[in-house]
Amino acid sequence: MPSNRTLLIAGNWKMNNDVAEAAKLADELAEALSEVPAGVEVLVCPPTIDLTTVHQRMSAAAVALGAQNVYWEPKGAYTGESSCAMLKSAGCTYCIIGHSERRDYFHETDEDENKKAAALIAAGIVPVFCCGEPEEVREAGTYVKHVTDQIRAGLAGLPIESADQIVIAYEPIWAIGTGKTATADDAQEVCGAIRETLADMFGAELAEGIRVLYGGSAKPGNIAELVAKPDVDGALVGGASLKAADFASMVVKAGE
Ligand code: PEP
Repeated sequence: MPSNRTLLIAGNWKMNNDVAEAAKLADELAEALSEVPAGVEVLVCPPTIDLTTVHQRMSAAAVALGAQNVYWEPKGAYTGESSCAMLKSAGCTYCIIGHSERRDYFHETDEDENKKAAALIAAGIVPVFCCGEPEEVREAGTYVKHVTDQIRAGLAGLPIESADQIVIAYEPIWAIGTGKTATADDAQEVCGAIRETLADMFGAELAEGIRVLYGGSAKPGNIAELVAKPDVDGALVGGASLKAADFASMVVKAGE
């Protein structure tokens, strides 16, 4: 993490916490994160049903709110979906897109992620664009190409004019929720390749400012070595974001 980029520690609650449970966790987080270290930004991404509650409960805390999904059309007959304007009205300034669980279980494609990213950017919401390879691609040794192809297809033609309009999260699928964290060197190798791809697509100056996170069993015990790497600008955190003490400890350790 070079000094000109603010670290981002982002929690992805996935499909966990009903409204009462979300209110409790939000209250615990607001207390645990009453002091966020300088140079670190904190983001929580609860399920859609919990967004308004978490926004209200955490309004006094220096914590940004993000959604886990969006649909690109502005309104209409799209049962079960939420628009950018709806997310914005609930207090979201970020939205995760392209998570491997959406790609795998809901068959989302790079083209879908591209439309979602374009709609979010137009609405002034920052996409947290996820990419990452499955285990067989890692074993075949073609993971850098796999991930950079996802970046090229997912971000093609986006009108990105400033580095704070997008965040990338590199999440090797074999490390998500498995306890198998990539080593800090593994994370750096791919995050560095992502930055080179961003430079090729959007210019070196812009790419230098874009945050590239690592995700996959990140926890209090490994966050410091991950963010010590030059191209790792924080973490997208699943399991460890569901316990206020663990998540807050990651924020503190990232800032040390
Ligand atoms: C995630 O799903 O974004 C994630 C990184 O999960 P975990 O931290 O539990 O591996």
